[in-house]
Amino acid sequence: MKQLLICTQNKNKIKEIKNVLKSFELEILSLKDLNDCEEIDEGGKTFFENAFIKAQYYGLKHNILALADDSGLEVFSLGMKPGIHSHRYAKTTEERNEKILFELKNKTERKAQFRTVLALFNPQTKQTSYFQGIIEGEISYSLKGDGGFGYDPLFYLKSFNKTLAELTLEEKIKISHRGLALKNLKEFLNENLDYL
Ligand code: IMP
Repeated sequence: MKQLLICTQNKNKIKEIKNVLKSFELEILSLKDLNDCEEIDEGGKTFFENAFIKAQYYGLKHNILALADDSGLEVFSLGMKPGIHSHRYAKTTEERNEKILFELKNKTERKAQFRTVLALFNPQTKQTSYFQGIIEGEISYSLKGDGGFGYDPLFYLKSFNKTLAELTLEEKIKISHRGLALKNLKEFLNENLDYL
């Protein structure tokens, strides 16, 4: 069976990605399964560059079709920050969420979006394909919900009257940035898996 390596140690990302790709004839591995704890310096200037750097590095290292996810939160009134710096915005998840709340204190303009870029790298052909998903919402005034991960308790969706952290995994993946990017990847795999 063909193997696909998810180039992350993030168990939440692994769970969301595996959940969507389970219908494919693929053995899905993550860096955890390979006991690969190496963290590389992404150093790119865009989500696309960072996703590519990870997919290419681990794809060549393990000689497996490799999928990397680079995601982040973009807050309009903060000039689209934290963006590609979402992970390094503060030390811990709690500190990152508190920092965003603090920066938006007294602000009524709270529009934000989550972006995911997936890069699929084939170590044989050296070809890379990209899949993007974006979801728009608002930064809530306080943290709500204990599902999801990262900035999810801050990300309010008017249509649900809930934050992303108040949705179930299935609900989140149906509408989320990562879910939309994975939907595009699925369409591509349906047409190209035999050739990869
Ligand atoms: P990276 O893509 O692993 O660099 O993640 C960037 C940062 O965004 C991390 O701090 C994650 O916790 C956060 N993040 C990534 N995806 C999501 C998501 O789906 N919901 C909430 N936070 C996320």
